Amino acid sequence: MKLVKHLANLGYGSRRDVQWLFREGRITDADGDVLYADDPVDHASIRIDGEVLDPPCGMLLMLNKPTGVTCSTKDAGRVVFDLFPPRYRQRSPALSTVGRLDRDTSGLLLLTDDGQLLHRIIAPKSKLSKVYLATLAQDLRGDEAALFASGTLLLEGERTPLLPAALDVLDARTARLTLHEGRYHQVRRMFAAVGNHVVALHRERVGGLTLGALAQGEWRMLGDAERAALF
Ligand code: URA
Repeated sequence: MKLVKHLANLGYGSRRDVQWLFREGRITDADGDVLYADDPVDHASIRIDGEVLDPPCGMLLMLNKPTGVTCSTKDAGRVVFDLFPPRYRQRSPALSTVGRLDRDTSGLLLLTDDGQLLHRIIAPKSKLSKVYLATLAQDLRGDEAALFASGTLLLEGERTPLLPAALDVLDARTARLTLHEGRYHQVRRMFAAVGNHVVALHRERVGGLTLGALAQGEWRMLGDAERAALF
């Protein structure tokens, strides 16, 4: 691949925009020697205005999603992509969220531009665990954990019962729920099925990954060890 296409794919602009960067001599190697559009790609040594490039295709990111932003690309309001450098929206292949969290749900959200990894994570057979902390409007009745664990609970409008899920009651209105699937609004609908209402929802864990010290609204790139910890 030619360097101009590589940089356009990383979101540094259209090929035309990137051609201008070359003409202006803003694209150099690590020694400051000017590079040209047809030069071969040596990702690690390329600089734009002296800055190293964004990571190449194959990134996996973790975001601590705040409430009030959606996972959509088209929503008129605030979207998770607003929390990343604008270039990240222009990348090819595109960066996408790994599944979704509702606008009112906070916590661990993964994003990747690696299609194979994305499918491996969201494929139903992966049964990757996801752990949620739910705050409820009413006191728990006491029978929810047994019902959620039974593998017999049917959500409204569905014909396949939910897989067994583990409910750990922390206090009368707070519980940690571990799921091994990801149906639409699943946590909220599970509590609705037992006559309750989720007032706050936070995802704490996906597979072996937790947020650690990542503050709300912040994100970071995951390395190979964390990728391996997922499954
Ligand atoms: N379940 C929900 O109801 N909402 C989410 O955002 C995630 C899981």
